[in-house]
Amino acid sequence: MRCLMLALLTAASQSVAQVPDSGRWQELRFPAGAVELRAEDNYIEQTVSLAAAGRLDRDRALLARVKRIANGLVRAAVALKPDAAAWPWEVHVTDDPAIEAESQAGGKLLVGGSFVARLALDDGELAILLAHEIAHIIAEHSREALSEALLDSRRDLPLEVVEERLASDFPLQLRMSKLSAIQEREADQLGMLIAHQAGWPCAAMLRFYAKLASDSTAPSLLASHPAAVSRLNLAKGMSRLLDE
Ligand SMILES: [Zn+2]
Repeated sequence: MRCLMLALLTAASQSVAQVPDSGRWQELRFPAGAVELRAEDNYIEQTVSLAAAGRLDRDRALLARVKRIANGLVRAAVALKPDAAAWPWEVHVTDDPAIEAESQAGGKLLVGGSFVARLALDDGELAILLAHEIAHIIAEHSREALSEALLDSRRDLPLEVVEERLASDFPLQLRMSKLSAIQEREADQLGMLIAHQAGWPCAAMLRFYAKLASDSTAPSLLASHPAAVSRLNLAKGMSRLLDE
């Protein structure tokens, strides 16, 4: 019966999808191609502006290290989300101190060298950071957030307008904070699974989240990530589960 219900639900709406592994259902109202094109534009704009400021890919050793680790993680992610094999994955590093680690729909990653240096991340810990961002991408979290932001609006708003509202509309950001918390926890959990399947030890996840817990300042009302101590507890639970 449940299968029949799910089949009917899928047939009734092209915009319903499931997150890899967790199986959580998402409503996706913008087409994947449109979200990826928009994300690519944003990524090009960001990387061109960082390059113009002399802050892109200057640390060649870090770039090579991030690319090597990301390659293995993407292979593991594609096993969970086969569509992701065709995405144009791309990695850059920056020494802009404001950037920790970011991802854009369709396979775009940006890693902050200052953040990696501040936490003195070894390869296993860096893999957990990258796997969290890759998990956001394969779970299509930004496409879901844009779709959710559209729900209280007229249905014909263009993607760019919804994106602008998400960046500047405080009541909307408050309304989105519940979904954001769900997505962050999911990216932690899915990221740990990806890292594990790429061969990184559970000890690396515990070390990474312990470093975050000792580094982070008190979260603000709209902090984009959950309290570091609850992320560390999740890592402890996941490492017990994955070790079994
Ligand atoms: Zn995140």
